Amino acid sequence: MRLIIMGPPGAGKGTQAKFIAEHFKIPAISTGDIFRANVSEGTPLGLEAKRYMDAGEYVPDEVTNLMVRNRIDEPDAVSGFLLDGYPRTLAQVEELDGMINFTGHRLDAVVCLTVDQDEIVGRLLQRAQVEGRADDTEDVIRRRQEVYLEQTEPLIEVYKQRGIVVEIDGMGEVSDVTSRIFEALDQTPES
Ligand code: AMP
Repeated sequence: MRLIIMGPPGAGKGTQAKFIAEHFKIPAISTGDIFRANVSEGTPLGLEAKRYMDAGEYVPDEVTNLMVRNRIDEPDAVSGFLLDGYPRTLAQVEELDGMINFTGHRLDAVVCLTVDQDEIVGRLLQRAQVEGRADDTEDVIRRRQEVYLEQTEPLIEVYKQRGIVVEIDGMGEVSDVTSRIFEALDQTPES
């Protein structure tokens, strides 16, 4: 299975990604997590990414694309993967298409979590307290929402045209959302 999970910041992508990955026995690859790991290790990639992350902006495509390319080339991702937080721009969609086509595979589904905007901001502010993320201040949260709407939401339409979008109501209990996702994905041809 080659899957993407999409949705605005705070929609619960990371939480659901772990359950989906476990279910299908594939790695969940979160670009945000990889960037954060690099930031805490103080690597050159981390130093570069931090500037953008702290402002709520996207890390440049060339940097992000190369990082994803290297990650999905690793042995555990050969038989499939779930991408969380990638692609986020049209250029990243094209790059990912190239990476997947090269291996002779295809993207099976794009899970889109739909949530209520007010709920999202509440969740992010709560997470800011629990995790102390530098990009979870109110201004940055707002900027991240804007960037998502401008640059990432239009990608859903691109994937809809390919007929691979699975829209899931992301509101309510975590376990209910997980059940909805499994139910929808178990109906896709390659599950
Ligand atoms: P996330 O944890 O997915 O919300 O990502 C946190 C931050 O990492 C984002 O606000 C961006 O600054 C950066 N980031 C993560 N994924 C990408 C991506 N695909 N393209 C550009 N920047 C990204």
